[in-house]
Amino acid sequence: MSLNPKRTIAELKELRALTGDENGAQRVAFSKTWLTARDWLAKKLAALPVEIHNDAAGNTWTTLRGRSERALLIGGHMDSVPNGGWLDGALNVLAGVEILRRIHDDYTGPPPVTVRLVDWADEEGARFGKSLFGSSACSGHLDLDEARTLRDKEGKLLPDVLKEIGVDFGRVKESSKELKNAAAYLELHIEQGPVLLDMDLPLGAVLGTFGVERHAITFHGQAAHSGSTPMNRRKDAFLAAAKMSLEIYPIAARHGGVCTIGSCTTKPGIVTSVVEDCRITLDQRHLDAAALAGMLADAREAADRFAHEGNVRVSWERLWQIEPILFDPVLIGFCDDAIGETCGKSHRLPSGPLHDAAEVARAGVPTAMMFVQSLHGISHNKIEDTREEHLERCVEAFDRLAEKTMQWIEG
Ligand SMILES: [Zn+2]
Repeated sequence: MSLNPKRTIAELKELRALTGDENGAQRVAFSKTWLTARDWLAKKLAALPVEIHNDAAGNTWTTLRGRSERALLIGGHMDSVPNGGWLDGALNVLAGVEILRRIHDDYTGPPPVTVRLVDWADEEGARFGKSLFGSSACSGHLDLDEARTLRDKEGKLLPDVLKEIGVDFGRVKESSKELKNAAAYLELHIEQGPVLLDMDLPLGAVLGTFGVERHAITFHGQAAHSGSTPMNRRKDAFLAAAKMSLEIYPIAARHGGVCTIGSCTTKPGIVTSVVEDCRITLDQRHLDAAALAGMLADAREAADRFAHEGNVRVSWERLWQIEPILFDPVLIGFCDDAIGETCGKSHRLPSGPLHDAAEVARAGVPTAMMFVQSLHGISHNKIEDTREEHLERCVEAFDRLAEKTMQWIEG
């Protein structure tokens, strides 16, 4: 076996020194530093007999041709948020590089199937506020009308910035042809949450990404003087909203999902008036579509009940919604097996954040993800970290997953 996980860690440190500073990783998509990171990556890959090109959306594809055109895809992203962590995205790519090296060394001549590493463009969406640009262009789900109007802080339009790196906005969806022979997609990622840390497990198999229901709920009461209005005569919009804040905990517990009230604004919002209007936002997430719908129905029922009790009205506005995206059961099984062979115990968990893998799965390619434990459970922060022994284990286990998947594609 020529796999060398220690080399992956050394390369991650090399990348950190080249593209980070005292505040963390600075590989924001389309920036000079991001291009530096991509050039550095291309030099690493040049030692292999691979073909490298950028697709119509600016994603970089590195192809190790096999005896079959059917391809195993391994993905990650070199871009980071400003002041980001050293592992988010880059770990996935550099583990992929190591696996390409191992496959090239292991097989005399071409491997049984084609193996392709993709570095997705602008996974984070840090500059234009919209994540998964490259992978959603590739999957066909990118909303072109919305993307065309996105501006950065300096007022520059996304299409103009894409032009600077040689990408024609009108053609970004032509990226989808890269998926033509895709037989499976694998992505390794740092967990970005505390689940594996709390269970004291290095690795986990990801079941899919949460579906999300995001709504604004406004209770409408009546403004009234705080001194002259008896307690039993009030139409207090805040009281109904406050009851909602307690109710989301049993709702989440009943269905096994998560619910968050992330913002609350009151009108008139002065110390001497009963609240006339109270607007809260509710974010609900679940891996199971029926359970997500159940959580939403329960929240609607509770809001009606609290409005009725408090003699106020309630109105709802949907802010955003996405269905749960489930990964492939066969590949999840391989992922469990690979983890078991490497560390003894695996754990299956959903992903709260969306990832490029969700876009590839939506495009119909069998997909799986592996998570490695995140120290502190924190990401998008310079303190993001993973124990070195866990980094080594994840490269090893991810390589086993890649090998099992190659054999499955071949068979
Ligand atoms: Zn990421």
